[in-house]
Amino acid sequence: MQSFQPPRRILMGPGPSDVSPRVLSALARPTIGHLDPEFQALMEDIKAALQRLMGAPDYACIPLPAPGTAGMEAAIMNLLEPGDRAVIAINGVFGGRMADMAGRAGAEVVTVEDEWGKPVDPARVEESLKQAPTKVLAFVHAETSTGARSDAAALCRIARENGALSIVDCVTSLGGIPVDAAAWDADVIYSGSQKCLSAPPGLAPIALSKRAQLAIAARKEKPRNWLCDFGLLMSYWGGEGGRSYHHTAPINALYGLHESLVMLFEEGQQAVFVRHARMHEALAAGLEAAGLSLLVAPEHRLPQLNAVVAPDGVDEAAVRDHVLKAWDLEIGAGLGPMKGKVWRIGLMGASATPWHVRLCLTALCDALAAQGRKVDSAAVLAAAEAKLAA
Ligand code: PLP
Repeated sequence: MQSFQPPRRILMGPGPSDVSPRVLSALARPTIGHLDPEFQALMEDIKAALQRLMGAPDYACIPLPAPGTAGMEAAIMNLLEPGDRAVIAINGVFGGRMADMAGRAGAEVVTVEDEWGKPVDPARVEESLKQAPTKVLAFVHAETSTGARSDAAALCRIARENGALSIVDCVTSLGGIPVDAAAWDADVIYSGSQKCLSAPPGLAPIALSKRAQLAIAARKEKPRNWLCDFGLLMSYWGGEGGRSYHHTAPINALYGLHESLVMLFEEGQQAVFVRHARMHEALAAGLEAAGLSLLVAPEHRLPQLNAVVAPDGVDEAAVRDHVLKAWDLEIGAGLGPMKGKVWRIGLMGASATPWHVRLCLTALCDALAAQGRKVDSAAVLAAAEAKLAA
């Protein structure tokens, strides 16, 4: 065996995003015991930072020791019991995954489907919630498979008005656009470390409202997953009355998440959102000048995930291959019905900078030219620069 030396890549796909040198060096700090008082102080700091970032001051906020999918599974398995009715909104891959999990939890699953590329339609969700008493409404705030943003505040309100708990997937939204659990009155929100937080993959920040915690305490049977049984997890992360062993925390990964949160608050939450929005505007202007269009209508677009329609006659996979080989640049492919039809360009966290926008547009122009398409790369860059200068 030999040591693994990864190639240098610039990550502008749907996640992971670029990890800053500061976070990488935090990951390499000496490992200490997970019950060491210094480590426990770090855990408290992370909990407080997540409460702040998620707009969740009265919520229980912890990072689960697994990727974003574990946040989804924890939310669903802790809130749903066999026979409960669950309404799941599907407008892309990840709503579909939630519905599959809710079925595995033994719930009666009712799906409300919207076209891929469109936001979840609150009116249709409300109609479905009114049909029968429902335990949970689950939906994706930022659908990474399409780049569409749904109205989390409206959907959580509809859940409340109809006596349902809300589960909001904020894997791609957290750290890129505002996530405001308390203002939405959401019950469970979860995310992932590798998108707009720009830490390595493998941690899933999650926030539970008091209402959700009471609902879990009132379950008829124990949740069917042990690692992410919220009651057990809180005996470890809760802090009050001392901690009892539950699992061995991924210590160095938590150093990395902590550093990424420190960086985010140093920049300022509002400044971070403005940066993502500005980079998106610049990228979109450049793409438009290149004759390319985005899948999602402007009012529903996520700044951090840009699904670009591959034009007729252009080999979608060959473009990705070209930018990877010639520019060390990773952009994403389409998923499910979008396979072969779109590129997914991420502007997430440390990958949302003017340098990334310029590089991506230059590499795309080069890849399109390699396929014989005429693109005026100077005009493309000028369109982006005009937005960057604004
Ligand atoms: N939900 C959404 C919206 C996502 O984009 C992803 C990952 O891309 C997930 C859930 C699953 O996260 P992970 O791949 O970290 O398990």
